[in-house]
Amino acid sequence: MPEATPFPAEYTAVLTGAGSKRGIGRATADRLAREGWAVAVMDINGENAKAVAQEIAEAYGVKTIGVGADVSDQSAVNAAVDEVEAGMPPVVGLVNLAGISSPTTFMDETAEGWDRVFAINMRGTFLVTQRVLRGMIDRQLGRIVSISSISAERGGGTYSKVAYSASKAAIIGFTRALAREMGVHNISVNAVAPGPIDTDIMGGTLTGERKAEMSAGTMLGRVGQPEEVAALIAFLLSPDAGYITAATYDINGGLQVS
Ligand code: NAP
Repeated sequence: MPEATPFPAEYTAVLTGAGSKRGIGRATADRLAREGWAVAVMDINGENAKAVAQEIAEAYGVKTIGVGADVSDQSAVNAAVDEVEAGMPPVVGLVNLAGISSPTTFMDETAEGWDRVFAINMRGTFLVTQRVLRGMIDRQLGRIVSISSISAERGGGTYSKVAYSASKAAIIGFTRALAREMGVHNISVNAVAPGPIDTDIMGGTLTGERKAEMSAGTMLGRVGQPEEVAALIAFLLSPDAGYITAATYDINGGLQVS
């Protein structure tokens, strides 16, 4: 029977899309650093990525690095991961958070708009994951979490429309199929599907009125906080979560069932 590879003394989590101040990625970077992970922040905005990395290093005393890369650009992704691997402890965790929303209704959608959403939300997840997996397979240890959305499960009903829902549904199929291939390498692959979370991705900071509107169908009567999603992701990356794979975790205040 295969044995689970233990975590090394020091280990790094790579987080894409962790450069924005009020995002789920930033909250996850804080949470993981607090739990002792070394943190690599990858974002399209390299300055933001470096600033977040520095703030986290100062706050938690862990090793960090900030790298700029458009996740849909393979050579940029490869260069960024090369830099992480050269300067950081072994990469054990990957969280694919980089994403864009898309409020365009279907009959107004263009091929360019559609491709852009898929390029970042899905192709980006593919490129970063495949590159990071090389080292994980060598070490026979890895935890991968990608961010889907309740929009994939309910068929929209959120700020974003069909292109976004379809790209986030793709993340669920990607997760399950990749988990099947990676199990033999002691690498878990999971997805997290948040409901409405209080970030700026849905066209800017949410007003009180928009929060009320978005939380109307939830059982808890409120939107979620990035820190709440971060806690779930951190658990799925932890040594304790080694037997969880191919799962999609809902975190939506009950919206999916209500
Ligand atoms: P966010 O703060 O806007 O985070 C998205 C991050 O991705 C930003 O830092 C953004 O950088 C970065 N990014 C955009 N395009 C990129 C690219 N091509 N390459 C690399 N990085 C790129 O929003 P969030 O709400 O935390 O979203 C995080 C993830 O959760 C997304 O995948 C989103 O779809 C998903 N999600 C969010 C909610 C929600 O209600 N907030 C619900 C379900 C799922 P810039 O800021 O510089 O553009």
